[in-house]
Amino acid sequence: MENTDYSKSAALLERARKVMAGGVSSEFRKMNYPHAMFYTHGKGSRIYDADGNEYLDFTLSQGPLILGHSHPAVAEAVTAYSAQGQLFAGQHIREIELAEKLNELIPSAELLRFCLDGSEAVHTAFRVARAKTGRKKFLRFEGHFHGWLDNVSWGLSTPSAEALGDRENPNVYPWSAGLPESTREEFMILPWNDLELVKTVVARHHQDLAAVITEPVMCNNGCILPAEGFLQGLREICTQYNIALIFDEVITGFRLGLGGAQAYFGIRPDISIFAKALASGYPISAIVGKKDWMDVIEQSKVIHAGTMNSSNATIAAALTTIKVLQQENPYPRMFNLGQKLMQGLREAAGKHHHKMLVQGPGPMFTIAFTEQTEIKDYRDTLIPDKQLLGKFIAGMHRKGIRIIGRGLWYISAVHTEDDIKQAIKTASEVLAEL
Ligand code: PMP
Repeated sequence: MENTDYSKSAALLERARKVMAGGVSSEFRKMNYPHAMFYTHGKGSRIYDADGNEYLDFTLSQGPLILGHSHPAVAEAVTAYSAQGQLFAGQHIREIELAEKLNELIPSAELLRFCLDGSEAVHTAFRVARAKTGRKKFLRFEGHFHGWLDNVSWGLSTPSAEALGDRENPNVYPWSAGLPESTREEFMILPWNDLELVKTVVARHHQDLAAVITEPVMCNNGCILPAEGFLQGLREICTQYNIALIFDEVITGFRLGLGGAQAYFGIRPDISIFAKALASGYPISAIVGKKDWMDVIEQSKVIHAGTMNSSNATIAAALTTIKVLQQENPYPRMFNLGQKLMQGLREAAGKHHHKMLVQGPGPMFTIAFTEQTEIKDYRDTLIPDKQLLGKFIAGMHRKGIRIIGRGLWYISAVHTEDDIKQAIKTASEVLAEL
């Protein structure tokens, strides 16, 4: 059955536009099909829009819903703990329990602080790294997303692949108007997955570098695993020059396993950031790190604050999400279902004579229409046919399958074998029509 009626969503969008800029609360929500959409409810692997259309959801609301929509245990815990209070402007026992749990699960965790979202936890990490090293800049990688704040809203867009220029000294473009030019001075940028290049540049500029920040799996453009030895190489360089290695685990955390990418790859960063899948859609993030780095917060040299931090609802959501993940251990299943879906999509593309690259570890992966056999960095992600991808995603959406607009799929603990079969069958139909 095809979804054809979006009239209620369209009318709501028109109404919203009169009072909300662009009708949405986050820029990315504009990028839906056929326009920014309104939803009424979600249950398990399904979400329903204002017109009553049903979608099998592989967006998981951009990643947080690792337990699917409206998980009953999370809803119950949030209700129960909120009934005791919302926010105390003081500490409460459950946040210690959550911190203890994170310390037990995350290999590099010794001290942590809770924040509201990934962006501000990244911001805190830079402050810690600068305070500790006395240096000013951070090194980041092309196409990696670390939130929407000023000093990371660069290097995410480019007029063309050629416009990026020299690999050792890339051209960088702002992602937004209104960025202070001075924020361009805060970072150096390089293509990802090229250890020799990082070694050369860090050897030359280490006196200026407080931190190297990376997504341990590059998920915001493509879904790219680190090259053999790349993360280990970053670890060694950062140790050599006393630079903070920051893993931005906003996506990989609780998605590749309970210990995040650092447990999956066996590399210990100095500082890491967890958000999204930590709390099933409630606004909480954590900056976790080794004591040697985080002690500047302990000693009040670095100020980290926030009125809304560690509210009862968010802590209850995180504790319960982790409890369910620990009890059920859905990870082997998520990897398996993801791999099955990836293989099914490859076969469907082959059957209908489309060159489609399907890449990623399984719990998350991307598709791209391209002759390329592997995508290794941001520059590679600029080659595939984005228009065709848009048509495919629109076609899937019409047939009730929801995928993130850049071709990213997330698998949850509640997706089933039947869901995977349905997605592959639908993809085959859409690919036949393209
Ligand atoms: N880092 C990464 C890797 C992300 O994917 C995101 C969000 N997509 C962020 C940071 C920012 O997190 P938030 O949207 O919670 O501020």
